[in-house]
Amino acid sequence: ELAQRMTERAVDVVKFMMKQGQMMKPGDLIDADTAELIAEEFGHTVKRVSESDVEEGIFNIEDKPEDLKGRPPVVTIMGHVDHGKTSLLDAIRNANVVSGEAGGITQHIGAYQVEKDGQRVTFLDTPGHAAFTAMRARGAQATDIAILVVAADDSVMPQTIESINHIKAAGVPMIVAINKIDKPDADASKVRTELLQHEVFVESMGGETQDVEVSALKGTNLDGLLDAILLQAEILELKANPDRTAEGVVVEAKLDKGRGAVATVLVQAGTLRTGDIVVAGDEWGKVRAIISDRGDQLAEAEPSLPVEILGLNGTPQAGDKVAVVDSEARAREISEYRQRKAREIAVARQAGARGSLEQMMAAAQASETAEFPLVIKGDVQGSVEAILGALEKLGTDEVQARIVHSGAGGITETDVSLAESTGAAIMGFNVRANKQARTLAEQSGVEIRYYNIIYNLLDDVKAAMEGLLSPER
Ligand code: GDP
Repeated sequence: ELAQRMTERAVDVVKFMMKQGQMMKPGDLIDADTAELIAEEFGHTVKRVSESDVEEGIFNIEDKPEDLKGRPPVVTIMGHVDHGKTSLLDAIRNANVVSGEAGGITQHIGAYQVEKDGQRVTFLDTPGHAAFTAMRARGAQATDIAILVVAADDSVMPQTIESINHIKAAGVPMIVAINKIDKPDADASKVRTELLQHEVFVESMGGETQDVEVSALKGTNLDGLLDAILLQAEILELKANPDRTAEGVVVEAKLDKGRGAVATVLVQAGTLRTGDIVVAGDEWGKVRAIISDRGDQLAEAEPSLPVEILGLNGTPQAGDKVAVVDSEARAREISEYRQRKAREIAVARQAGARGSLEQMMAAAQASETAEFPLVIKGDVQGSVEAILGALEKLGTDEVQARIVHSGAGGITETDVSLAESTGAAIMGFNVRANKQARTLAEQSGVEIRYYNIIYNLLDDVKAAMEGLLSPER
C-alpha cells in the first residue's frame, strides 16, 4: 500500500528495507515511523493525518450551555453471579413499560428504556462487568449510574468485590441493591457491614451510597430502586443537546441473516434520524431503519435512547463511537483512516510497545501526582494482604501504588480487561494466568509478571517507581 501511494514498485520498497536490515515481504505491516522514513528516502513529503484532523467537528462537539436539555440516566447492573442481575433487569423491564407501548413485544437489543412517573431510565442489559470494562477499554463511558446487586442470603462475594473495583475505577456513582430480601435466610445488615470493609458506605450506615432492599423474584420495592436511580440522576444533572447531529456509542452489534449488520446504538447527544450517514468505529453506512427495544420502527432517536440501526456495511464493536457525518465521502475517509489506525495499533502491539512497567513509569512521571496502577493476584488472601501492606509502605509523596484490583485466585480475563482499561500491570504471586487471560493480555499489550517471592515483587515495583527498572526476570 505504501509503495502504491508513492507510485513506486513494491520490490523497490522491499529492497530498500533489506538494505536497512529489515526483511519484509509485500503485505507485511510496518509502523508509521518506518513508513515516514521510507517515504522521505523515496523523495516524498509526509504529512501525518491525526485523529483530530479526521474527526474534527464530528466527535465531542462543544455545546452551548443554553442548548442542553435534561436526558435520562443510563444504568448498568453489576454483581456476583447468581445474585439476581438478570432477574432484576427482567423484573424492572416487565413492571415499567414506557407508556403507550404496552403490548409491544420486548426485544433484547442489549439495552432498554423504562418509564416511572413520566421519567425515563435506560438500562444496559448485558449484566456483569465484562461489557462494562470492554466498553471502558475502548474509551467509551456509557454508564451514568452503576447498580451493585448483592444477594442478602449470600452477601459480599469475589465478583461483588471485582464489581466495586470496576465501578470505583470508572468513577461512576453506585447504588447498592440488596436483593433476595424475600428469602428466609436474608440478612441485609450483614451485607451492609461487609460492604464497609470494601469502602462502600451505605446511607443506613451513615455513608453516602444509597442502598435499597429488593426482591427481583417477588417484584418487591423495584419502585424504590427506580426512585433511588432518579434521585441520583437528579444530583448528576445529566444533560445533552438534542438539536444537533447525533453522537453515540455501540452497545452491541451482530450480523443478521435477513437484515445485514445490526448495531444497537445508545444515542448520547443529538438526534439520530433515518437517512443519516453514520460512522461507527471503522464501519459506516446510511441509517436505513431505527428500531426501538419494543420492536417499533422510529423516525428518530433522542439522547439516552438505545436503538437498533440498520444500514451499516459491517459490524462495529461494542464501545465503538458513533457519529453522524455530512457526506458518504467523509464517512469513507474516516472509516479508512480508522482501519489504517487499527492496523498500526496491531503492529505496535506485536512489538509489545504498550503497557510495560517502563511505559507506565513514563506516564506516571508525566502526570503531577504520580500513581502507579497495579492489579495484584495471589494464591491466598493472606499473601495478597501482605503484599498490599508492603506496597502501601513503598509509596512516597511523589509516587504511590494504586491498587486497581486485588484478590486471591488465578489471573483471569476480567483482571486483564480491568488492567487494560486502567493502564495497570498485573502482578501474580504464586498464581498463573489462564489461557484466555494470556491471549487477551497479548492482544491488549497488558504486562503480566509472575513472582514466588514477595520481596522480588516489591523490588520490581520499587525499582519501577524509582524509574530504575531491573531487567525482566
Ligand atoms: P445473575 O447471575 O446475577 O444474573 O442471577 P439470576 O438473575 O440469573 O438469578 C440467579 C438465581 O436467583 C435464579 O434462580 C433466580 O430465580 C434467583 N433469584 C433472583 N432474584 C431473586 C429474589 O429476589 N429472590 C429469590 N428468592 N430468588 C431470586
